[in-house]
Amino acid sequence: MEFRDLKKQYQMLKEDIDVGISEVFENGNFISGYQVTELEEQLAEYVGVNHCITCANGTDALIIALMTWEIGAKDAVFVPDFTFFASAEAPAYLGATPVFVDVDKRTFNICAKDLEGAIKETLEEGRLTPKVIISVNLFGQPAEYTKIRAIADKYKLLLLEDNAQGFGGRISEKRAGSFGDISTTSFFPAKPLGCYGDGGAIFTDNSEWAQIIRSICVHGKGTDKYDNVRLGMNSRLDTVQAAILKVKLKAFCNYELERVNEIASVYTNLLTGKVITPLVKEGYYSSWAQYCILLKDEKERAWIQQLLQEKQIPSMIYYSKGLHEQGVFRNMKSRRKEYANTEELCRRILALPINLYASKNSEDAVAGILVEGTLI
Ligand SMILES: *Cc1c(COP(=O)(O)O)cnc(C)c1O
Repeated sequence: MEFRDLKKQYQMLKEDIDVGISEVFENGNFISGYQVTELEEQLAEYVGVNHCITCANGTDALIIALMTWEIGAKDAVFVPDFTFFASAEAPAYLGATPVFVDVDKRTFNICAKDLEGAIKETLEEGRLTPKVIISVNLFGQPAEYTKIRAIADKYKLLLLEDNAQGFGGRISEKRAGSFGDISTTSFFPAKPLGCYGDGGAIFTDNSEWAQIIRSICVHGKGTDKYDNVRLGMNSRLDTVQAAILKVKLKAFCNYELERVNEIASVYTNLLTGKVITPLVKEGYYSSWAQYCILLKDEKERAWIQQLLQEKQIPSMIYYSKGLHEQGVFRNMKSRRKEYANTEELCRRILALPINLYASKNSEDAVAGILVEGTLI
């Protein structure tokens, strides 16, 4: 069994994808082809914002958003402690200090109460200026935006929504990617909407920022790329990837997102009461980048992984350590006193396989092994 069956997905979509790719090859419009513009329009409409600018990957997307706001030395950027490294790498890369915030144990997303605590602490200490909150829609579920937005407003901070894992999620009818002042996503193959290589995108309603973002993506261009008005980078989505994404976005909207939610509810139905299943808050809809359960402790987790392994069922640990434990951040004053929830999650969490295109439902088999394993 695969952890995520991208090969089968390609087999299903092969005809349309191959047509899309050969069109690019025949036109020779490898960079900034019309397919990129078409995709950007479709993505902006789907998310429900005015502007979408694609770029080379989700990490660049975060860096470009922060560059647009001129974030740098002496700035504090608040980041959940429990997330993929890139969420904190981006501000640190620009010389800002990521300040880590603990997460909620049931949703895995940034804890609003601890966020406010971190902002107050930073203000009291007076060494850094609070500038940005990076909220991450971890494992597919949007963070708690009513609370986060209120905190951003109260302290006059900008909100950057890292939606790399959350594309397709929503709160009521408002889609993930529309909550931040700027939002970013990643099209890394294993993300909810992935391409067949690296890719990313940036979303905003603000036209002035959108223009700066487009400039940064192409060497800080002014009227054209040989007129350079600021420092930028070279960060674009290949036309080939845009052509692939156009096909994949259709499949995502037509059935993939619904199917992944069906799989998640099968897991939840079979596992509730046996292990701790992920909590999706009332009115929230997840795109299930990962389906993660909590086991009793590290020992039980190792045992369950071994049982699954014996049946060739892959499982993964996202994440085995909080960002505050990453060596690179040790000297950055990013760390605060306590990260009790993150540390507990790192010991107990386990991600289960999600196979959208499996011929036979695999969730029952996976859940069966888990239930038996936890009884022993
Ligand atoms: C994957 C990911 C990124 C980075 O995206 P890349 O396309 O791999 O650069 C950023 N943030 C989060 C939360 C991610 O999961």
